[in-house]
Amino acid sequence: MKTTEVVNQLRRYPTAVYLAFSMLCIFIVLLVYSKNRLPDKAAVSPPQSAEQSLTEPRETETFPKANAEILSQTEVTVRRGSSLGDALAEAGLSGNESLQVCNALKPVLDLTRIPAGQTLQVSLNSSGNPVQVDIPIRFDKKVTASLKNGAWEARQIITPLHPVPVLVHCTVNTSLYQAAVDAGIPLSVMMEAIGLFSFEVDFQRDIQSGENITLLYEKLLDLEGKELSTGKLLFARLELEERSIDAWYYQTLEGRADYYGADGTSVRKALLKTPVNGARISSGFGYRNHPILGYTALHRGVDFAVAMGTPVMAAGDGTVVIAGWHKSYGNRVKVRHANHYDTMYAHFSSIARGIVPGVKVKQGQVVGYVGSTGMSTGPHCHFEVHYYGSPVNPATLKFPPRHSLEAEDLRLFQLEIDALKAEYGI
Ligand SMILES: [Zn+2]
Repeated sequence: MKTTEVVNQLRRYPTAVYLAFSMLCIFIVLLVYSKNRLPDKAAVSPPQSAEQSLTEPRETETFPKANAEILSQTEVTVRRGSSLGDALAEAGLSGNESLQVCNALKPVLDLTRIPAGQTLQVSLNSSGNPVQVDIPIRFDKKVTASLKNGAWEARQIITPLHPVPVLVHCTVNTSLYQAAVDAGIPLSVMMEAIGLFSFEVDFQRDIQSGENITLLYEKLLDLEGKELSTGKLLFARLELEERSIDAWYYQTLEGRADYYGADGTSVRKALLKTPVNGARISSGFGYRNHPILGYTALHRGVDFAVAMGTPVMAAGDGTVVIAGWHKSYGNRVKVRHANHYDTMYAHFSSIARGIVPGVKVKQGQVVGYVGSTGMSTGPHCHFEVHYYGSPVNPATLKFPPRHSLEAEDLRLFQLEIDALKAEYGI
């Protein structure tokens, strides 16, 4: 039975869904309960040496001991335009108490940068007096102020996390998003993988049903084995009909993290920001006074001033969609790239031989020669980048330069991926 059929069946029987969901909840509660009772957490902790286990304190100091005095808790939210003090007042703290709490918090928390919507938990003792204020900052970090011997003290509490790699496979039926949902893969992980594949694949055209995706990513668990978040995507593979795309995570000795093919070449393929060698930008992207038309207009691209006849390269792999004359642009070439990017090159003295609509070009391939045809005041290449058909500033494109691992990095990378291949059978 297909997933969609299951969903339709479920829609028809809401009571069954309700019952199933309730049972699932009970099951999860039981599971969590039984897990918490297990004395040995080895099953969910990463392997560690016996020595480490002995020397590492079992009770980490990062968690505050449960405060026996706490009787009740209230949660308040910092509203837009209000301060932490306002939220504390709302929770019932006096002006003086609120001031003391804020003073205690100052060294560990930037009180001027508390976002609207930030929650605080205020704990009260049996007399109804505030004794502790907890401010969750991130899934693994909170700031706590507590009253000790009549004085407020604050500290940051970081939850120690263990990254545990998880291997998942899924098959694309309708979309990559749906595949992630069906396989229980966090969307953030799938988005990261999609970003990596997008340098090679045009998702509109290249993806068919039945294609397989393999991902190895980290789950971040706390000491109790509870999953708090996801960590790094370590490996992503997309199997297309006639080829497959692998992306391996690696952090260089210099500390730069990126994704590489098994040969150590970065999977990110930049669109060249400068399609002409030795050029200087004579006019940038944005509004300017048009030199010929004489009024302010959006300059939809970047002008590179360079000698007449200088070859201009395709900024990325793609297909030529326009190669010909335009009254303003003169001789111009437009190339369609994967994932809704187009580039356009104008005012050519001539278009390169063989560059006609429908022809595939490689990054760096010459598409034409600098000239001053069309509406132009001198030899230059007018270069536009379009995303979804709208011009964007090529200078601010967030593509890192393409690079390959070398020497010691390449050797370490090979060792790392060989180890992962052996361990996970990928
Ligand atoms: Zn221009």
